[in-house]
Amino acid sequence: MNDVMANSMLDEDLQGIRDMARKFSDEKVAPTALELDQKHEYPLDLMKELGELGLLGCCIPEAYGGSELGVLAHSLVIEEISRNSGTLGLAIDAHTSLGMMPVLFGGSEEQKQQYLTPAAQGHEIFAFGLTEPHSGSDAGGAKTTAVLDGDEFVINGSKSWITNTGVASSYNVCCKTDPSASGSKGLSLILVRGGTPGFEIGKPETKLCVRGSNTAQLFFNDCRVPKENLIGEINRGFPLFMKGLDEGRIAISALSIGLAQGVLERAVRYAKDRYAFGQPITAYQGVSFMLAEMETQIAACRALCYTVAKMNDAGIPYSKEAAMLKNAAGEMCNEVCYKAMQVLGGNGLSEEYEVERFYRDARLNTIGEGTTEICKMVIARYTLNDY
Ligand SMILES: Cc1cc2nc3c(=O)[nH]c(=O)nc-3n(C[C@H](O)[C@H](O)[C@H](O)COP(=O)(O)OP(=O)(O)OC[C@H]3O[C@@H](n4cnc5c(N)ncnc54)[C@H](O)[C@@H]3O)c2cc1C
Repeated sequence: MNDVMANSMLDEDLQGIRDMARKFSDEKVAPTALELDQKHEYPLDLMKELGELGLLGCCIPEAYGGSELGVLAHSLVIEEISRNSGTLGLAIDAHTSLGMMPVLFGGSEEQKQQYLTPAAQGHEIFAFGLTEPHSGSDAGGAKTTAVLDGDEFVINGSKSWITNTGVASSYNVCCKTDPSASGSKGLSLILVRGGTPGFEIGKPETKLCVRGSNTAQLFFNDCRVPKENLIGEINRGFPLFMKGLDEGRIAISALSIGLAQGVLERAVRYAKDRYAFGQPITAYQGVSFMLAEMETQIAACRALCYTVAKMNDAGIPYSKEAAMLKNAAGEMCNEVCYKAMQVLGGNGLSEEYEVERFYRDARLNTIGEGTTEICKMVIARYTLNDY
C-alpha cells in the first residue's frame, strides 16, 4: 500500500497509531474475519485486545483511561481494522462514537469515571439505542418512555437494530421524558446496565452484512433505573446524541474507506495473478481502469475524512461536512466493492475470495448512522443557507 498522500496529512504520532492498528488488523483480525462472519460470532477477544492496546480510547481523556489522541486517530484505527473486518469496525464504532461519546459530552464526573474508564480499556462494551421499530431516520420520533418515579426512571418501550447487544454492559437509551413535547424535544439519554430487571434483549437479527456485530431488539418493561443514570440534562438528550452522531459519521466513513481499501487490495492481488486470453487481466484497460478509479475514489474520500476529523479535533463545527463525508464515503464504498466483484468475475461471488463479504458489509454504509438521503437533507439545508 502506498501511504505517501495519507502521510502528508498525518504527523508521526498519527502514522504510528495507523501502523499499529494496521499490524493488529493484518496479524489478528484478518485470520478470523471470515470465520466470525460465517458463524455470526462477536469478536469479543479482539475488542478486549484493542482496549489493552489503547486503541478503543483515542477520543477519551487520559483521566478516564483513554489516550486522548483525538477523532483522527480514532478514525485511522477504524479504517485499518475495517480493511479486514467490517464487523469489528462497526463494533468499535458503536462502542466508542455512539456509546462512549455522549457520556463524555454530557455525563457527570462520576459517570465518566465509572463507565468510561473500563470501556476505554476494553473491559466493558457500550451500545447505543436510538432506533425503534417505527422510527429510524426520524430520530425524534422515539416512543420509548421514561417516567420519573421517586428516585428511579421507569422505562417502557423497545429499540431495534441495536449493535453490540448481549456483550454490552452499558446501553445509552434514548427515551421520551416529556410526552407533551413534540418531535425531537423532550427526549433524554438514560444509561441502562445489562441485566437490569425489566430489560431484555431480543433474538439476534440474521442480517446480510457485518454478521458478527450482534444486532438485536431491546425490550423495556417497567425497567427501573436510578435517576442518576440520566446522561446530561433532562429533556435535552437530542442535541447530545446528535453531537455523538456527527462524530459517528466520521467513524463510519472511516469504516467505508477501510472496507474499500481492503477490497481494492484483494482485487489488485487477484487481477495480477488471473490470466485471460494469454495475459494477466491487468493488461486490459477494462480491468486496470476499474482499479485506477477505485484507488482515486478511495483517496478522495480519505482526504475528506482526515479533513473533517481534523475539524473536529480543532474544535471547528462540522455537521455539514460530516454529512458530506458520510454520503460520499458510503456511496463510494458500495461502488468500489461493486467494481472489485467485477474484477474477480465469478470468484468475486465466492466466500473464499472475501470480496463477497466486503460487498455485503458495504450495504450498511449508506444506511446506518444517517442514510444517504438523510445526509443529503442535512447538506442541502446548509447549502441553501450558505449561498
Ligand atoms: C447493521 C445495523 C446496525 C445498526 N446499529 C444501530 C445502533 O447500534 N443503534 C441504533 O440506534 N440504530 C442502529 N441501526 C439503525 C440505523 O441507524 C437505521 O437503520 C437508520 O437510521 C435508518 O433508519 P430506518 O432503517 O428506520 O429507515 P427509515 O428511516 O424507515 O428509512 C427508509 C428509507 O426512507 C428514506 N427516508 C426517510 N426519511 C426521509 C426523508 N425525510 N427524506 C428522504 N428520504 C427519507 C431513507 O433514506 C431510507 O431510504 C443499525 C442499522 C443497521 C442496518
